[in-house]
This record gives sequence, C-alpha cells and structure tokens, in this order.
Amino acid sequence: MNLIAGQGLAGTVLALTLLERGEEVTVVDNAHRSSSSMVAAGLWNPIVFRRINKSWLADEVIAELEAFYPAAEPLLGAHFYHPLRIFRKHGNELEARLWAEKKPTDDFAPYLANDERNPDPDLYKPFEFGYGTVNRAGYIDLPVFLAAARKYFAEKGIFEEAEFSLPENTDALADFRFRGKPVDRIIDCRGYKTADSKWFNYLPFGLTKGEVLTVRCKGLDLDEVFNAGFFLQPLGGDLYRMGATFNWDDKDEVTTPEAREELLAKFRKHLNAEVEIVSQKAGVRPTVQDRRPLIGRHPQVENLYIFNGLGTKGVMLAPLTAHYFADFLLNGKALPAEMNIDRFRKLIDQVHPLIDYPGPKGQN
Ligand SMILES: Cc1cc2nc3c(=O)[nH]c(=O)nc-3n(C[C@H](O)[C@H](O)[C@H](O)COP(=O)(O)OP(=O)(O)OC[C@H]3O[C@@H](n4cnc5c(N)ncnc54)[C@H](O)[C@@H]3O)c2cc1C
Repeated sequence: MNLIAGQGLAGTVLALTLLERGEEVTVVDNAHRSSSSMVAAGLWNPIVFRRINKSWLADEVIAELEAFYPAAEPLLGAHFYHPLRIFRKHGNELEARLWAEKKPTDDFAPYLANDERNPDPDLYKPFEFGYGTVNRAGYIDLPVFLAAARKYFAEKGIFEEAEFSLPENTDALADFRFRGKPVDRIIDCRGYKTADSKWFNYLPFGLTKGEVLTVRCKGLDLDEVFNAGFFLQPLGGDLYRMGATFNWDDKDEVTTPEAREELLAKFRKHLNAEVEIVSQKAGVRPTVQDRRPLIGRHPQVENLYIFNGLGTKGVMLAPLTAHYFADFLLNGKALPAEMNIDRFRKLIDQVHPLIDYPGPKGQN
C-alpha cells in the first residue's frame, strides 16, 4: 500500500494518478491545517511575461493538465476546470516588442493571441505599451477539486483525517504500518511542512508566503484574467480574486495589512473602479531554491518518498510530475534529473550523515 501524507494539490493529483494505475493508496491529511492549495488562485499560465518566454516544460505540462483535470471532473462529480484567457497589460516597451516578434512564431502561436478588445478608458488606466492575450490558460478551483477528491477517497474507504508524523528512527520506518496495514511506501506530500521533517530537512526548500484578496467590484464585467504585475481573476458575478504577494520572511498563514495594501495599490495603479474587500487569505508555497519540484526516493530509506516542491506553479506541474513519479515507482523509469531529489544528494551529509540502514523488511 502507498501511504500519501497530505491531501493538498500534490497528494490529491498523485493519489488519483496511482489509483488510475491500479495501485493501492491511503491518504491522510490533517483537515488542511497548513494548506497552500486552499489559498491558491489555482491559475495556470504558459507564458513568463518579463521576456515573453514559455514557462518551464510549458508544452508538456499544458498538454498533460488539459487531459488530467477534465478527466477528473466526471470521476469526482464536480466542476473545477476553468480554461480562461489572460488579458495582459504589457509592462514596458521591451515586453511589447518581444510579444509582437514572438507571437507569429510556431513556438508561441498556440499561446499568444490577437487582441480584439477595447478596454473601457473609464475603467482602465492608459495602456502605455499596449496589451495582449494568452490562450490555453485558466484556473482550477482548488477548494472544489480537493473537497470532491476527499469525498471520493472517503467513499472508497481510503481517507483518514489525522495529523501524521514520520517515525523518528529507521527500524520504525522499515516496518511501518498505518491503522494496522503494512505500508510499502510512505510518500510525503505535506507541502511546506515537509521542510521541517527530520528526513527531508536537508532539501533546499525556500518557502514563500503569499496572500490573496477576494473583492467585489461592480461594473468591471471581466471574463478573462487581467494581469498587470498582479492578477484579477473573475469568480462570477461581481467577485474577483486579486493576488498575489510574495514574502520570503514569514512562514505562517496570518494575513497582514501590508499585503492588503500592496494588492490594493496595484489595483489602483491600473484600474479606476471601486473595490470592496470580501476576504483575505494567506498560505505558504512549498518553493525550492532552484524552482524545480522535489520528487523521488529518500537516499537512505528505501520505503520513504517525497512528492513536493511544486512551488508557485502547482496546478501546471502536478499532473506531469505525478505521471513521471508513477512511471518511476511502477515501471522503474528514471525520474527527470531536474525534478529528482538526487540532485541534492551531496547536501544530506551536511545535515545528518549517511546512516547504516538495512532497507525495508531486512532487504539490502
Ligand atoms: C497566495 C498563493 C497563491 C497561489 N497561487 C497559485 C496559482 O495561481 N497557481 C498555482 O499553480 N499555484 C499557486 N500557488 C501555489 C500552490 O498553492 C502550490 O503549488 C500547491 O498548492 C502546493 O500543494 P501541496 O499539496 O504541495 O501543498 P499544500 O497545499 O500545502 O498541501 C499539504 C497538505 O498537507 C497537510 N499536512 C501538513 N502537515 C501535515 C501533517 N503533519 N499531517 C497531516 N497532514 C498534514 C496540510 O494541511 C495540507 O492539506 C499559490 C500559493 C499561494 C500561497
């Protein structure tokens, strides 16, 4: 049995992927006590705006997410997949020039679209450098996705609401049982809390707190995501999500007046409309110093795995990363080196030197 610790985006996508491949899975989560996924806007965007580049592995991750989430909707009986274009206000002359140059190329044509709108000058401040549209973007309504998946796991009898801790010593790990059941693999998907784990604290998690606002804004009538160095995501009616902030110092879920002011100032810089704040949320993203996922088998403990480090782009990365992880676990395929925690193998000796570990159930 595979024990998945943490039912955020990572644990959920991985559990669904392993179940689909016929694996036995149990998921344990502490009622989202420290969830980045429950706060996230859930957006995906294939373009990095500064120099108009494609996001890392954009073609592969977009193809995988466009297959994964729509297929999960009927399985889970819920609607959470929302493809939506992005209306990007160019930040400067260079961005506008690069956009115009790259838009017609084979590489970018699927993502950068023609502009057919006329932004209301009473609502929007002037577009000094113009604007563009990104296709094949959108968002996953993560609270809806996670609640539907939790219900699905619970109905199958494979979900447990509990606080989970990894055993402190290797013998207990080797013979690990959960609720009396032998566990073949423990897979740590506890988001940023994994960074505190004795077994994984050698990994260079960066951790980035972020805050978002839900606001009411009458008369905006936006049916795309507006992006101008912050985002405004339509949620239906007059509601919008506004985000997000990046804070590398705090590691908590406490909302702050500074973040609220930062977001409102960005809104006022680009729009004239009035906003009323409905709610504010904070979370900690499981970011990594080299901005790549952290997946693989613990270098010293054979039945201990990690599926984490989805950083700022979990929605995009989770399906493809889970696909690679399942191929690794079940078919013995090598993980992509950029995602594999083996890239940090050298660091472990600095934290706790190699232990003499016999492997699970006495194997070498
Ligand atoms: C403000 C903000 C905006 C964001 N916007 C976007 C966005 O637009 N698009 C995007 O792709 N990403 C976004 N992200 C990032 C996104 O949230 C992450 O990439 C992703 O959700 C991480 O998922 P995870 O499952 O690894 O971690 P989490 O969602 O944190 O899940 C970990 C789960 O494990 C549980 N857990 C922790 N410790 C224990 C324990 N000891 N026992 C049991 N359970 C435990 C937690 O309660 C939680 O449910 C945003 C994040 C923030 C904070």
